[in-house]
Amino acid sequence: MSTPPRIPVAVLGATGLVGQRILLRLARHPWFRVAEVAASERSVGRRLSEQVPAEVGEALGHEVAGLRLQPMDAGFLSPLVLSALPSGPARQVEPRLVEAGHRVVSNASAFRADPAIPLVIPEVNPDHLALVGHGDGGIVTNPNCAVAPMALALAPLHRVFGVEGVVATTFQAVSGAGRGGPSVLDLSDNLFPLIQGEEEKVEREAQKLLGTVEGGAVTSAPFPVSATTTRVPVLHGHLVDLSVALKGRPPLAEVADTLASFAPGPALPTLPPSPLHLTDDPMRPQPRLDRDRGGGMTVTVGRLRPCAVHDVRFMVLAHNLERGAAGAAVANAELCAAQGRIPGVEPIREGAA
Ligand code: NAP
Repeated sequence: MSTPPRIPVAVLGATGLVGQRILLRLARHPWFRVAEVAASERSVGRRLSEQVPAEVGEALGHEVAGLRLQPMDAGFLSPLVLSALPSGPARQVEPRLVEAGHRVVSNASAFRADPAIPLVIPEVNPDHLALVGHGDGGIVTNPNCAVAPMALALAPLHRVFGVEGVVATTFQAVSGAGRGGPSVLDLSDNLFPLIQGEEEKVEREAQKLLGTVEGGAVTSAPFPVSATTTRVPVLHGHLVDLSVALKGRPPLAEVADTLASFAPGPALPTLPPSPLHLTDDPMRPQPRLDRDRGGGMTVTVGRLRPCAVHDVRFMVLAHNLERGAAGAAVANAELCAAQGRIPGVEPIREGAA
């Protein structure tokens, strides 16, 4: 049986931190190939190789590195568009692409809160993808980079016991802010006690991811979430401290078993064999040691212990640019492909190499 041709993909925001990681993932992808790239007016007309670091250009190969960056109104030919645009431009550009019949998989926060637009992690809520059709355009979003590891750990606990409430404190890496993030001088020997606009996203997106689809929209999970989001002098890898109230007050050993046995999601090329790695080393997780586990897609869970206020307390860590952004978007694109939700493209059998 012959292998079907790889699906052409347009990458928007291709020159940014997330966009580059998407390109690197697609350069070796069995189902997708980069056909079109786009960025801001600053980059339009230049070759991709001129706008990304040399090592990224080399890893992409001659054909992709030589693509010219297009403007947002280019009239893309690819049925699948992966967007790594900032939220403002995404709000303008993505609906136009939907009108033109593209499946848009977006990293931006612009449409994540819309109950009619799916916010998806394949291992957590693949059923929410039913909010987009098969043959028409539509947006699929992936969560905020701090929410991704948090939701992956909360999902099995919510499924087995029921989550009643969450207090979350994040320690977020500098690369989470994109290229325009804080300067080394401001953040060295320092910490920012607030990331503007982030706490609302963490609270709302955790509830939406663990919600249910009813009547063409998501009903968010009803448990309260209270978040504090901070920026720390770490390059990559977001750490989140969680204190969680669970229904039925389960013993700690049952909580540990539930986290350790969380099943891998659908068989997609980008998903790791285990979404969660539970460690009993009291000095883990650490960003530098744990962020690359599972190609940056496995969440490390540690410091699991009883909580004197709620039931359990633990920390989660994931690579913000992979599980929190590029890897998350590519995995969602794969889920769309597997479910036949890329307009004009036959479903790809899950697990196909
Ligand atoms: P970034 O490094 O600042 O890159 C932004 C990209 O968007 C660049 O390619 C830039 O092109 C392009 N761009 C900027 N303004 C534009 C405009 N007005 N019109 C068209 N293109 C424009 O940002 P990032 O960190 O990659 O983040 C990209 C998106 O992913 C954001 O929505 C962000 O919130 C989200 N996200 C980021 C992370 C993370 O950990 N960094 C995690 C989850 C989600 P030029 O090179 O031409 O300027």
